[in-house]
Amino acid sequence: MAKKKGIVTLEGAVKTDAGLNYKGVIMEPVVEKCEGCERIVTFEEEGYCPTYAQPSRKWASGVCNFATHVRAEVDKTGKVKVNPLKASKRAARGR
Ligand code: SF4
Repeated sequence: MAKKKGIVTLEGAVKTDAGLNYKGVIMEPVVEKCEGCERIVTFEEEGYCPTYAQPSRKWASGVCNFATHVRAEVDKTGKVKVNPLKASKRAARGR
């Protein structure tokens, strides 16, 4: 039942020195922190994010708010905590 939806493919994308060119958008490979995120699309053995073209920048400013595998929470001291999400919780995501 928990079949992964192959919603996005990067068909027609072209690898360039700057990154993966997909319909004119340069996409950089996903970063280590993206590992486990359902949005990752693999193209020629490298992972790319169709949601955010530059995953490293997304994470540079904290936690990726598009991530499906972790969620950021700010604790009482103002520190950002990253919590792994359970698959069952994803159903409640929908926002
Ligand atoms: S949505 Fe965020 S965590 Fe997921 S692959 Fe894209 S940049 Fe990485």
